[in-house]
Amino acid sequence: MRYATLASGSGGNATLVEHDGHALLIDCGPSARTIAARSAALDFEVERIDAVLITHEHDDHVGGAAALSRRHDLPVYLSGGTARAAAARLDGRARLHPLTPERAFRVGPFDIVPVIVPHDAREPCQFVIAAGGRRLGILTDLGQPTAHVEQHYRALDALVLEFNHEPDLLAQSAYPRSLRARIGGHYGHLSNAQASALLGRLEPSSLVSFTAAHLSEKTNTPAHVAACLARCLPPDVPRHIAQQDAPSPWFEIEP
Ligand SMILES: [Zn+2]
Ligand SMILES: [Zn+2]
Repeated sequence: MRYATLASGSGGNATLVEHDGHALLIDCGPSARTIAARSAALDFEVERIDAVLITHEHDDHVGGAAALSRRHDLPVYLSGGTARAAAARLDGRARLHPLTPERAFRVGPFDIVPVIVPHDAREPCQFVIAAGGRRLGILTDLGQPTAHVEQHYRALDALVLEFNHEPDLLAQSAYPRSLRARIGGHYGHLSNAQASALLGRLEPSSLVSFTAAHLSEKTNTPAHVAACLARCLPPDVPRHIAQQDAPSPWFEIEP
């Protein structure tokens, strides 16, 4: 199995996961055109995607899904709450497959567990994906770590984890007070300190690949995140900080 982020941040999120000639796209915030261009930069054709999985209805996760689904006749898997909340963007234009949170399902060679998370959306889920004896966790848009989340994301082979904001930068930002409260609240996004503490509890020594994701461009910097990772990730774990405007390389998740 291997993965690559195509875009990551409040301007749009999408992650490709590939195994044995099959592929999933986790979230589709960017336009179908951007998805195609960034996939091509990774030498990957969008036609090879089997399905799109949507974590929740926020525009940075669902914005391009309807167009991509229609253009390539792709099924879109999402919770019932997400489907209802995103109905205006998806209705009649995407081939929807309802999923049940916490109930594992299969697409091609991928065994997928949708994990319920606290976030200010209708029925948000994040995903743990297994294939070829390896497990990849994708975990962004998390208001706070929970025991439930820790149980699902422990001792993975690869992890994409939100490092959204640095509290000092958030406090100094030009965001309105209500938005600052939302981002830093229990149903918003993980701060660098929250993500670091969570990562430390997830047995990170098992990881062969780690990606810090969904960084805020206004209230975080790659330097802040790199400093956190130097403290909370074992030195031999390969690490990457995902970008908003460029795809990552492919990361192999092999023994
Ligand atoms: Zn988001
Ligand atoms: Zn969100």
